[in-house]
Amino acid sequence: MRKLVPFDVSAQTVPRLVTASTIRTLDAAGRAATAMLFDRGRVLAVGTPEECRDAARGRGLKAEHVDLGDAVVIPGFIDAHAHPLMYGQMMTWVDCGPERAASIPEIVALLKAAAAGLPPGRPVRGYGYEQRNLVEKRHPTRYELDQVATDREVYLMNASGHGGVVNSFTLAQNGVGRDTPDPEGGEFFRDADGELTGELSDAACNILTGVHGVKIGHHGPNFHLEDEPAEHLRQLDVAMTRFLAGGVTALGDAQVTRREFDMYLRLAQNQKLPLRVSMYLLSHLLDEALEMGLVGQFGNSHLSFAGIKLYADGTLGGWTAYFPDGYVGDPCRTGQLYHEPAEYTAMVRRAHAAGLQTATHAQSPTAIEMVITAIEQALADRPDPDARHRIEHCGLPTHEQIRRMAASGIRPVNQTQHYYNWGEGVEQAIGTPGERFNPLGEFADAGLPFTISSDAPVAEPIPLEAIQTAVTRVTRRGHRLGPDTLRVSAEAALRAHTIEGAVSIGREDDLGTLEVGKCADFVVLSDDPLTVDPTAISGIQVLETWVDGEPRHGVVGR
Ligand SMILES: [Zn+2]
Repeated sequence: MRKLVPFDVSAQTVPRLVTASTIRTLDAAGRAATAMLFDRGRVLAVGTPEECRDAARGRGLKAEHVDLGDAVVIPGFIDAHAHPLMYGQMMTWVDCGPERAASIPEIVALLKAAAAGLPPGRPVRGYGYEQRNLVEKRHPTRYELDQVATDREVYLMNASGHGGVVNSFTLAQNGVGRDTPDPEGGEFFRDADGELTGELSDAACNILTGVHGVKIGHHGPNFHLEDEPAEHLRQLDVAMTRFLAGGVTALGDAQVTRREFDMYLRLAQNQKLPLRVSMYLLSHLLDEALEMGLVGQFGNSHLSFAGIKLYADGTLGGWTAYFPDGYVGDPCRTGQLYHEPAEYTAMVRRAHAAGLQTATHAQSPTAIEMVITAIEQALADRPDPDARHRIEHCGLPTHEQIRRMAASGIRPVNQTQHYYNWGEGVEQAIGTPGERFNPLGEFADAGLPFTISSDAPVAEPIPLEAIQTAVTRVTRRGHRLGPDTLRVSAEAALRAHTIEGAVSIGREDDLGTLEVGKCADFVVLSDDPLTVDPTAISGIQVLETWVDGEPRHGVVGR
């Protein structure tokens, strides 16, 4: 058996005193400091250099002085919703995004070139196309992917991550034919003659993990594709490096199956988990979790279970979010719900009754309504003023829904980079209501605390880009959609990616601000996001990232 490793012991062995031009503590009083003392991964004092030196003397500590000069220190970013293993895995796939391919023949050429360099039988996987941005303005077909290979899997995932296109081999291998019914919560798309096109979405992605892979039924899009464990660990390592480079020190893995838990556990056992991870088990594991008595947070300061992830509907980017009256951009598409409302409500009530936090993916007003109603019923069964149920993405809640979320303490976990990257696409999909996508300013006006995260790999883990977008609401293409009331202040946006993220994963006692007793997790920036021009926030450099009192990114250059 594997020995129990004391992996909750801090990596920090030398007490340190950091000085900088500004230390934004983000405590309740909004205090700024110029020095911070920490030891064994915990903050011992924050204030002036003199105060921190006194604190060190009082404890008999000889602290190493780290002078950060003109730099600005803030608490480590919390990315409350991300998919690190999927992110790392996709880095090994073929980038077929708009910068690399504008048309289907160009995509096919990229995949063909990649296939030539792979061992025989190894799947060929690509990602990043957006059908509306292609010259052809449509998805590729399985026949086009058959030009890449007919003797092994070819999968091209679309930008939303909730589906894509496979070749004929993949469909045949999994026994999917023209008469195969669509699974609940997903679709195998067909042409006018009823023939499979190769496009699949959401729950239909279950076929991608192969015969013995992770199966999640209709509990979400199945992106838990298998590689060798050593390869998965390499992928996670690459992903974690990117999170640290963005200044992220703790994250919520928003879709954990046996694949993710296995890999995190291997890393934790070898003391190789470079940042903190809170895991949300996908709802296909709800029964098992309850059966084994998981009734709350469990783990240690590096790796823990936080709650249950559920899906209400699909994505706006893939046009699978549920709009029962059809999309303005394509009235034949409605998207779909993953569960019947009664089934969904029963899961939320069971999780809540046991004391578990839930985090549900919901984008459309209809899907959000199902979630809020279920949580209201669960809270009526067992009142809990601090249940902290979450709605992931929460793209387009109505004003009335925002009011009810505030009343029930439901926390929206948004991704402003999705607005930044394809806010215009949401407007094209559903018309003018789409301009409200990610209405952070309305949350703030309603007194509803909100959280910003990346949803990597859907967006890169670059918190400063997410914060800038929350403040400016200017998209990558330079548009500002909707009224100014949707914007928030730089301070509110910064808090949304730090302390509010910590509250969302239930870790505000340890993380999210720089205060005595909390973890010494912080980011060193080249400038102050609270004083620079808002359009310059994303240009601020992340110079260093520290976790647990130890540098994990960037110090080499100092
Ligand atoms: Zn996600």
